[in-house]
Amino acid sequence: MGLIRWGLAMLRNCTAARYEINKSRMVRLAEYSRDCLRELRDDTGIHYDERMQGTLQLFRTQHQVDGTAADIAILKRYGVPFEVLDRAGCVRQEPALAAVEEKFAGGLLLPGDETGDCFQFTQRLAALAAARGVVFRHGTTIKGLLREGTQIAGVVTDAGTQRADAYLVALGSWSPLLLAGVGIHIPVYPVKGYSITVPIADARGAPESTVMDETHKVAVTRLGTRIRAGGTAELAGYTLKLHDTRRRTLEHVVSDLFPQGGDVSAAEFWCGLRPMTPDGTPVVGGTRLPNLYIATGHGTLGWTMAPGTGAVMADLISGREPEIDMEGLTVERYRGAYR
Ligand SMILES: Cc1cc2nc3c(=O)[nH]c(=O)nc-3n(C[C@H](O)[C@H](O)[C@H](O)COP(=O)(O)OP(=O)(O)OC[C@H]3O[C@@H](n4cnc5c(N)ncnc54)[C@H](O)[C@@H]3O)c2cc1C
Repeated sequence: MGLIRWGLAMLRNCTAARYEINKSRMVRLAEYSRDCLRELRDDTGIHYDERMQGTLQLFRTQHQVDGTAADIAILKRYGVPFEVLDRAGCVRQEPALAAVEEKFAGGLLLPGDETGDCFQFTQRLAALAAARGVVFRHGTTIKGLLREGTQIAGVVTDAGTQRADAYLVALGSWSPLLLAGVGIHIPVYPVKGYSITVPIADARGAPESTVMDETHKVAVTRLGTRIRAGGTAELAGYTLKLHDTRRRTLEHVVSDLFPQGGDVSAAEFWCGLRPMTPDGTPVVGGTRLPNLYIATGHGTLGWTMAPGTGAVMADLISGREPEIDMEGLTVERYRGAYR
């Protein structure tokens, strides 16, 4: 899908009414995901530098504090716990912010939010899955899908063709490229995000959990002995070229909010492509080809929504009713607009 078309579709979603619809769809899947993640943790004992101390959205201006009404209405509707905090409340939640309290006006605490190291999580989850018989074919490139009538008959790879009863496309930003080959068009575009991982210099000066700087749209999280900051959105196609200006923004947020916390000169700098839909909501569910399924378009919240997405996909492919309402989550919502 062309960037201009995708951008125009995104602009059409920039109204208060669309925001509420889209956000409520994402909250539905995200809330379910958290329940699924807790169940997974209880069942497997998996650990990944996890912390359960919530996320603090930090507002540098009163205007931002006043602008939270729409979010709060949605949180209330879905029974998501939250707390509006003044400056002192923010410092109670994140004591290291005491050193910079003149820099912010207040915050919104989501106490149910959890954080962790996604790399550790996926590595350990993969090992658990392999122990239960899942076969991973790393280093294999998918070349295309074989279509026979209304069915998918195989996946063509550089290591031969694989055949199965059902096929799930979950290739992130690359999903539309594969799906276009069988006539399915989804509006997913890569939005590049950058991150730094910084060794903690003084634990008392580091975040306890996650602080989301709403001005710079950068999240700063503690992961064990490290601080991870991530954010920014760049539309640059599929390139993974690293730009130093982005690094400086991330370093600025860490140093500005947690001046004693981390040694930014020793930061590891990296980037990734977020598979974004113009309405922010992922594309999860079946397609008009009965044995082809899609799970992509999770944008900035791929891990947040992953456990619920996995559960929904397992249910759908096994012929069971998903535990959440699928309204507005499937490709159906685009109703041919992107063919
Ligand atoms: C800096 C940054 C910070 C983020 N922070 C958070 C966060 O705090 N919380 C959160 O929930 N989310 C976060 N995200 C978003 C999250 O990383 C994404 O939403 C998530 O990675 C999407 O997962 P995915 O599996 O759909 O796609 P991807 O992670 O992109 O995985 C797709 C995979 O498919 C492979 N692939 C593609 N084409 C082919 C092919 N033809 N053959 C074989 N393999 C192929 C790719 O190599 C890739 O490994 C962040 C993203 C970035 C960039």
